[in-house]
Amino acid sequence: MDIRQKETLEQMTGGGIRFHYPMHRLTTYQVGGPVEALWEARDLETLKKVIRYLSLEGIPYGVLGRGSNLLVKDNGIDGVMILLKGSLAAIKEGAEESLVWAGGGAPLADLMNWCRQRGMSGLEFLAGIPGTVGGAVAMNAGAFGQEVNERIKALQFVLPGGTPVERNRSELKFSYRRLHMEEGRLVTNVCCFLDRATPEAVSEKMSGFLKTRKQTQPLEYPSAGSVFKNPPGAPASTPGAGRLIEKAGLKGKKIGGAMVSEKHANFIVNNGGATAADILMLMDLVRFEVKRMLGIDLEPEIRVLGK
Ligand SMILES: Cc1cc2nc3c(=O)[nH]c(=O)nc-3n(C[C@H](O)[C@H](O)[C@H](O)COP(=O)(O)OP(=O)(O)OC[C@H]3O[C@@H](n4cnc5c(N)ncnc54)[C@H](O)[C@@H]3O)c2cc1C
Repeated sequence: MDIRQKETLEQMTGGGIRFHYPMHRLTTYQVGGPVEALWEARDLETLKKVIRYLSLEGIPYGVLGRGSNLLVKDNGIDGVMILLKGSLAAIKEGAEESLVWAGGGAPLADLMNWCRQRGMSGLEFLAGIPGTVGGAVAMNAGAFGQEVNERIKALQFVLPGGTPVERNRSELKFSYRRLHMEEGRLVTNVCCFLDRATPEAVSEKMSGFLKTRKQTQPLEYPSAGSVFKNPPGAPASTPGAGRLIEKAGLKGKKIGGAMVSEKHANFIVNNGGATAADILMLMDLVRFEVKRMLGIDLEPEIRVLGK
């Protein structure tokens, strides 16, 4: 970005843009170099204008949720990262009682509280996933045999030219840990359908899932959750990525500050002072060894950004 572009963006955003912002503060891995510019979008009108400007000027941009599925490289990111806040992170009841509209930037924890308080059931499996609603939809987040797409009725996006659109469930394509969408689309609002239950029943289900997470995941260390996708095939006949990494004898393997968790081998944790390069090198080693010893190619689930 040149000075003119930076000044224009400052004006358009009312000074709400920060330059050279360290990404390690915004990712659950707590690693990553600076992004050229970070902007907290708070309303749809300004978001549309800024996206239009960035597209016209050819300035790269991306949207950041909680950074809980991201590995940002040590030399940072060019362009603008956008956080969705304010009205773009609000949660509201839909036209029918069984519907909820959640802003792309809403923390999943807020959506869990909303469901718990109203006794609305169907999304409990997301309890404990540290992301945002937009991040969960973009990643088709899932756990305990369920995926978020199963509960989606419609999505609202902003397209690269700044145009808002709405798409129904039948117009959307999801696959394992992925929403298929054009580069540069931002999910601004998500409509989910839920079932009526009681606050107690919803709360009990969430507690059960949270308890299992605590028992099976190394939540005491910074991470981005499961690093690799489970290989395709029925879970009963194909071991998950964690089991394969364990079979290859890689539990506890370290490179610099990165370590394959002893508790859950598909988590590479930041054991203290890790760099993105340490984590990437350990990922490469894991892929190489699993391929060499077991003949299976592991595909990363986490998204790697930056340079
Ligand atoms: C301890 C731990 C446990 C986890 N457990 C699970 C689990 O059980 N199941 C699971 O699926 N994941 C899990 N994860 C991974 C992660 O939390 C999820 O993928 C989560 O949904 C990512 O949300 P986020 O807001 O952090 O997205 P980010 O990491 O910020 O972004 C991920 C991707 O989504 C895109 N994105 C984010 N917001 C939007 C938006 N509004 N519009 C368009 N694109 C967007 C980003 O550009 C990026 O490409 C876990 C992570 C941790 C740290």
